[in-house]
This record gives sequence, C-alpha cells and structure tokens, in this order.
Amino acid sequence: STSLALNYRERKRERVAAEADLRSIELRSDEILDGVTGLIGNTPLVRINSLSDALGVEILGKAEFLNPGGSVKDRVALRMIEDAERQSLLHPYTGSRIFEGTVGSTGISIATIARARGYDTTIIMPDDVAVEKVKALQALGADVKRVRPASIVDKKQYVNLAREYALHFTSTNTHGSTASSLPPNHAHPFTLKHSASSVVVTTSENGNDVPNGNGHAHDLFDEAEELRTKPRGFFADQFENRSNFDAHFDGTGPEIWRQTNGDVVAFVAGAGTGGTIAGTGQFLKSVNEDVTVVLADPEGSGLYNKVKHGVMYDHKESEGKKRRHQVDTVVEGIGINRLTKNIELALPIIDDAFRITDAEAVSMSRFLVQRDGIFLGSSSACNLVACVKLVRKMGWQNGEKVVTILCDSGNRHYSKVRNDDYLKKAGIPNDIGTVQDLLTQP
Ligand code: PMP
Repeated sequence: STSLALNYRERKRERVAAEADLRSIELRSDEILDGVTGLIGNTPLVRINSLSDALGVEILGKAEFLNPGGSVKDRVALRMIEDAERQSLLHPYTGSRIFEGTVGSTGISIATIARARGYDTTIIMPDDVAVEKVKALQALGADVKRVRPASIVDKKQYVNLAREYALHFTSTNTHGSTASSLPPNHAHPFTLKHSASSVVVTTSENGNDVPNGNGHAHDLFDEAEELRTKPRGFFADQFENRSNFDAHFDGTGPEIWRQTNGDVVAFVAGAGTGGTIAGTGQFLKSVNEDVTVVLADPEGSGLYNKVKHGVMYDHKESEGKKRRHQVDTVVEGIGINRLTKNIELALPIIDDAFRITDAEAVSMSRFLVQRDGIFLGSSSACNLVACVKLVRKMGWQNGEKVVTILCDSGNRHYSKVRNDDYLKKAGIPNDIGTVQDLLTQP
C-alpha cells in the first residue's frame, strides 16, 4: 500500500505540475507588451554567483526588482485592482480612488497601475520610511499622507487610516460623477456582473462596498449607470486581501516551478504581509510537498517565535505604545508582530525560520555589490542571509537549488541601509566580513 500511495502522490504531482505549466504565463520575449501592466511578473531567475560558488549549491533569486514599479508588489497591486474591478468595487475612469496603508513598495505599485487605469491614489505611510519611496510616490502623482508611527490598535495607525479614508470617500461620493476622467472615445470597460435587476450596496469585511442581489428594485439601466459613474473609494488592504496570496499562488509559484523544471529543494522569503511566502510556498508544496519553505525574519519581528514556539515573543510588550505592526529595523518591508489573513495562510506551510540581524542584512547588501555587482534592497539581503544559513544547516553542497525573492533594488534604500551616517547612529556594524564568516565558519 505504501507504493500505491506513492504512485498516487506521483500521479497527483504530475497532474498538478501539468496544470501549473498551463497556468504560468509565457516568458517575456520579443512580443510587444500591452502597456505598463504587461511588464509585470514573469521575472527572470538569476544565479547569485558569489554565494552559489562558495557553498556548492545554486542560490537563485527571482528578480522582482525588474518589475516596472520596482518591486514584487507590482504583482499584488495588479491582482488586487483586477479582482476589485471584477467585483465592481472599482470602475476605471469614474474618479474612483484607491487607498492603501503601506511602507512604500505597495503604494508605488498601486500608483503605477492606477495611472494606467484612470484611478487616483492616496497612500498613508509612517513618516520614518526611506524618503526615496515618498519621492517616487509623489512623482507618480499619488496623494501621500505621512503619519506618526502608531500601534495597530490606534485609529491613527496608517493602515486603519487608509480604511477609514476609503469608507469616507465612498459615503461622500454616492452620486454625480460625470466620469470626466474618461478619455475621449474610450469604450467604458464596465460590464454588469449580475444580471439581477436589483443591486444593494453593502459593506464587506474589509470595509469596501459590495453589490449584492437583494433589495430595492432598480431599472437595469439605472443600476448600470449608477455603478458605472459612482466614484468609489477602494481600500486595497494588502494585509487581509486574498488577492495578495493569489498573485503569488498563480504567478510567482508557477513561474519558479517552470524556471527550475520542478527541481527546487527550498523556497526562502521574508514576510511583511505574508502574501509572498504563503502564495508561493503553498503553490510549490502543492506540486511537491518535499519543498522546504523557510522564513527569513528580521530582528524585532514576532514571526520567528511564532513559527518556532507558537507564540509571538513580545506579545505583552507589543500591546504597549511602542507597538506598531512594522518592525523597527533597518530592513524595510518584512517582519510583523501581528497575525493577518495572509500570515495565517503562510504559517501552516513554513518548515523552518531564521532570525536575521540588521548587521547581517547590511553586510549581505554590501557583499553582493562587491562580489556580484547586484544592488539590492534590505529585504532581499535578509532573504539571502537566510539562504546561506539554511544551506549550512542542512549541509547541502551538491548543486541543490534554493530559490528566494529579490524584492526590490538598493536604489530605494540609499537613505537607510546604504547610508553610513544612519548606520553609525543606529549602531549597526557595516562589515562585509560578516557574510564571509557565515559562509565559512564551522
Ligand atoms: N520586501 C519589500 C521591499 C516589501 O516592501 C515587502 C512587502 N511589504 C516584502 C518584501 C514582503 O512581502 P510580503 O508582503 O508578500 O510578505
């Protein structure tokens, strides 16, 4: 019966792998792409030569910094917007506005796609994130609000503010848009989702209006007209939004599977919202349950302890006023001290976790520039430190393929991880010897 079970597993694997093959998008090639969103996803996998050669394995990075908005978050922003359009939560060229609370990357991705779709964007962010992200957002025409870092239980916390603004926008814009931002001769992309002749707008879990089929009877035309012209406030809500997971389950995961021909022993990623590790990890496990999924967690994040010991270590302390959901570290974008829907999707499939210090992340960032000419952001550096620790722990040295995410480029991090004064003040050592030690010390 063991061999029967194995056979079944093999067959299931083949079937899922075949489906994965179909689902994955064609490699970016010499075809002409359809606007800026055509550039999203389908990123190459790059061998990190310095680390791979030193370890005798293949450390492969998914080059997400090549997305047009500069980070892995382009995939998520596109999927959230497309899913919202499918649910009639957003309509292009109606004066609708997207709201998000973000440390930056997601905002930049949303603003990029929003411009191409005729939406406005409001981004609420803590006032201590790297200033180059604010500049990028402003250049993209986003309305940027910077607020004091606050606890997630505080109404003034940036994610809570984004939700609130979106609700307010929707309730104060019930009728009367002239859809003036519709370009001339532009066929309106709106299509009626329900053919039912009545639509009532209710409020969904994430604070967005959702049309449902019960209630006042409207004329079908009025209904279409109202939905079409009503400017909506949409709270993207990357932390709780399932579209975040789906972007990776349907995109990043299948792409990695195809690019490695299914030959991958481990997937390593940090978690900010958890979307990347949950979606990609779950996909890879669905095609091969032996793929090891590993979390790279920066200092100050509670996830490492959650994975290792079942609790977030600083739970009590973190209820205090110091608490905010973004972790205090030089590493931007990963680490979290609370559970979100996307983190909950990730936890069951995370096999191992490594805690990465600021000093290690800074060191890796410098090491990669010196040895590989690859200039990456701090979360990518964190991921690569975790790759080294994993490979050393497992004793791999026979060309095993370990895949990780190169989330964004170093050009978004000049003011922090690349800033000597900042590092000195923060007391973070800046010595590429740290990586050398990780690679060689017994
Ligand atoms: N790296 C960077 C630079 C990010 O901005 C983020 C998202 N906050 C991540 C990594 C983590 O990705 P995820 O939200 O999918 O966990």
